[in-house]
Amino acid sequence: MNAIEVTGLRKSYGQVHAVRGIDLSIATGEIFALLGPNGAGKTTTVEILEGFRRRDSGDVRVLGFDPHNEGRAGREWRNRIGIVLQSTSDSGDLTVFETIDHFSGYYSNPRNVEEVINSVGLDEKASSLIRKLSGGQRRRLDVALGIIGNPELLFLDEPTTGFDPEARRSFWALIEKLRGNGTTILLTTHYLDEAEALADRVGVINNGQIIEISTPAELGGRSTAQALVTWRDGDAMKSEATDNPTSLVKKLTAQFDGEIPELTVTRPSLEDIYLTMIGISRE
Ligand code: ATP
Repeated sequence: MNAIEVTGLRKSYGQVHAVRGIDLSIATGEIFALLGPNGAGKTTTVEILEGFRRRDSGDVRVLGFDPHNEGRAGREWRNRIGIVLQSTSDSGDLTVFETIDHFSGYYSNPRNVEEVINSVGLDEKASSLIRKLSGGQRRRLDVALGIIGNPELLFLDEPTTGFDPEARRSFWALIEKLRGNGTTILLTTHYLDEAEALADRVGVINNGQIIEISTPAELGGRSTAQALVTWRDGDAMKSEATDNPTSLVKKLTAQFDGEIPELTVTRPSLEDIYLTMIGISRE
C-alpha cells in the first residue's frame, strides 16, 4: 500500500487557484521531495495531506485514511505522522528538553527524548530556554518535535531553512537514519542539492500543477542531456556541447598532444534542469 495517494486534488482561495488537479503516489519507505517556486502550491498540498486544510475536490489517502474525515478526529492516525511546519509557535519559557519531553507525552510510542536531542545536534542546548536559541537551533528543535512521536510518515516543510552548512549535513545524516528505519518522508525544499542528496523521487510543481515526477538523476531528461566540454585554446576559451564527451576529449588529447588546458566536462545540475522547467533561464 502506498503511504500517500492523491488524485485530482484541487484547492482555490477565492480567485486564486492554488492547486489545480494534482495526482501523486508516494510509496511506503520512500523519500519524496516536492519542488516549486514560491506560491506554486506546495504548502497548500502538504497541509491538505496533513489534515489542516480542506480540499475543494479530489481523492486523498494518507496511511490509508482521508485526512479530512479521519485526520481531524483520528488520534490514532495523527499518532502515526510527524510534522515539521515552516514555522512553529513560541513556547519560549521552556527549555529544549522540557519542550520535547512535553510533546513526547502526546504520542503512544515516542522516541527517547535524549536520543532525539542528540540526533538533531542540540545536546549542548538541552537545558537552554527556547527563546535563547539561534534561528538554526530553533529549526533543529522543530525537527526534533516532528520526529519525537516515532512517525511512520514524516512531513518536512523546508526543514533546513536557516541551517549552517554543517547543520544541513548532519540533518541529512539524520534523514538517512530515518530512511534506514523505513520512515516515509515528504519533503518540500528550495535547496536542489538537498533534494538530490535525499530524495528517491522529486516532483516539480508550478502554478498548482505537477510538471514532472522523476528521480533526481533523470528529471527533465537530465541523464541524457548533452555534456558541455570547455578548454583553453591559446588566448581563447572554447566550448562544445556534445552527446559524446569522451570522443571529443580523445580528439582534443591528440590535438594538444597530452594535457588539455583548463579542461572541464559538465552536465546540467538538478538546479539548471529545475530552473529550465519552471521557465527561468540562467542566461
Ligand atoms: P512557498 O514556497 O512560498 O512556501 P508554496 O508553494 O508553499 O509557496 P502555497 O503557500 O501553497 O505555495 O500558496 C499557493 C497559492 O495560494 C499562492 O498564490 C498563495 O498566495 C495562495 N494562498 C495560500 N494560502 C492562502 C490563504 N490562506 N488564503 C488565500 N490565498 C492563499
